[in-house]
Amino acid sequence: MTLQERDKKHLWHPLTQHQSQQQILPIVKAKGALLYDEKNNTYIDGIASWYTAMYGHCHDYIIEKVQQQMQQTDQIVFAGFTHKPAIELSEQLIEILPDNQEKIFFSDNGSTANEVAIKMAIQYHHNQGEKRQTIIAFENGFHGDTFGAMSVSGLSVYNGVFEDLFIDVKRISVPNSENNESIQKQLKDIISDKNVAAFIYEPLVQGANAMHMYSASYLDEILKICKDNNVVTIADEVMTGFGKTGKYFASEFMINQPDIICLSKALSAGFVPLAVTSCSIKIYQSFLSDDFNQAFLHAHTYTANPIACTAALSGIQLLLSNTIQENILNIIQSHHEFDRVISGHSMVKSTRQLGVIYAIDLNIDIKRYGNKRNEIFDFFMVRGVCLRPLGRTVYIVPPYVIDSEQLQHIYASIIELLDELGID
Ligand SMILES: *Cc1c(COP(=O)(O)O)cnc(C)c1O
Repeated sequence: MTLQERDKKHLWHPLTQHQSQQQILPIVKAKGALLYDEKNNTYIDGIASWYTAMYGHCHDYIIEKVQQQMQQTDQIVFAGFTHKPAIELSEQLIEILPDNQEKIFFSDNGSTANEVAIKMAIQYHHNQGEKRQTIIAFENGFHGDTFGAMSVSGLSVYNGVFEDLFIDVKRISVPNSENNESIQKQLKDIISDKNVAAFIYEPLVQGANAMHMYSASYLDEILKICKDNNVVTIADEVMTGFGKTGKYFASEFMINQPDIICLSKALSAGFVPLAVTSCSIKIYQSFLSDDFNQAFLHAHTYTANPIACTAALSGIQLLLSNTIQENILNIIQSHHEFDRVISGHSMVKSTRQLGVIYAIDLNIDIKRYGNKRNEIFDFFMVRGVCLRPLGRTVYIVPPYVIDSEQLQHIYASIIELLDELGID
C-alpha cells in the first residue's frame, strides 16, 4: 500500500471534508525552505508550514541543540521543579518582548496560549473582588479552536456550530479611517457595563482573516481606552510574533503595550509544539496571596517541556543573528519590488504588506474552500510552490532562510497565475 492509501485508512485530517478531498500529499523530507515528496519533487514552502518553520525546516543548529538536550532531560514536571531550558528561554523572551512583560507561563499551542490569557484576565479581576466575564474581540479575528479561543474568534463556518456554548463575547469591527470614531464610541459603551474583563486582538495583521491589515494608530487608541478602564489587553501574537512584521513583535508598533501576550507557532521554530502566555507584573501580582485559591490553578502536563524550550531558545538565537536579520530586510525589500511589478495588473484587486507578510487580493470572487481556490493551490504545487490561498487572497510568509532564487520563483508563479486568470 502507498502512504496515501495507508493515510486514508485511519487518519482524520484537520479542516478537511474527507468525502470530497481528492489527495493528501505525503512529505518525506523538509529542509530549509523546501518540502520533498516521495518522488523527490520539491516544493518551496511559501508559508513556512503555517508560519512555524521561520528559520527553515530542520535547521542544523536547532537539531544539534535539541539532540544535546535530549541526552540531559526529557519531560520534567513543571509544578515544583524547574530546569535550565525553561529558565534560559524565559530570560531570552523577556529580553526581546515589550518592556512591560515580566512573567512567562507555558502551554502547548496557540489556542491554549489564548485560553490561558482569557482565564488570567478573568481571574485577575476576580482576585480583586470584581466579577467581570465579558471579553471584547474583533470581528473576523482568529484565536484558536478550543472553547474560549473559538468563542473570541469571529463567527464563521469554523465555530458557528458551537455558538450557543460560547463564553460571553462582544465583537467590534476592526478599525479603519471610516469607522474609527464609531468603534471607539461602541467600545466605551460596552465597557461602561463594568463587566468587561479583557480585550483580545491580533495586532496589525489578522492572519486567518486573509492577512487583513490595519493601522497601528487606531489600535493604539483602542488600547488606551482599555487601559483607562482597567480592561486587560491581550495581544495574540501567535502569528505576528518573532520577526514577521519586521519587528520582533507587532506590539512594538504601538505606544500602549498589552498586559498579556500570546505566542506559539514560530516560537518553537517548527520543531515541537510549545506556547507562551507572557504578562506584566501587574497581572502576576494579582495572583499573589495567602490564599492558595488565588493562584493560577491551570496546568498542562507537558508544560515547559525541556526539548521544546531548547528548540525555542535556539530559534530565538537564530532570529537575533545578523544573517537572519539581513535576510528579513532582503525579503521585505524583494516584496516591495515585486509589489511594484504586479500591483497594476488587471487581475490584482489590492495588495498589502507588513514585514515579510505579503498578500494579494485577486480580482475575482473565490470561495474560501471552493473549487477555484483548490485549482489555484494546485497551480502553485505543479510549479513547485506551496502557497495556501485563503479565498481570493494569495499570501506569502516565507521562511527567513529562503534564497532570492526561490523567492523569485514564487513571484514568477504568481505572475503566471495572474496572466492565466487574465486570459480566462
Ligand atoms: C494559529 C493561530 C492560533 C491558534 O494556534 P494553534 O496552535 O493552531 O492552536 C491562534 N491565534 C492566531 C493569531 C493564530 O494564527
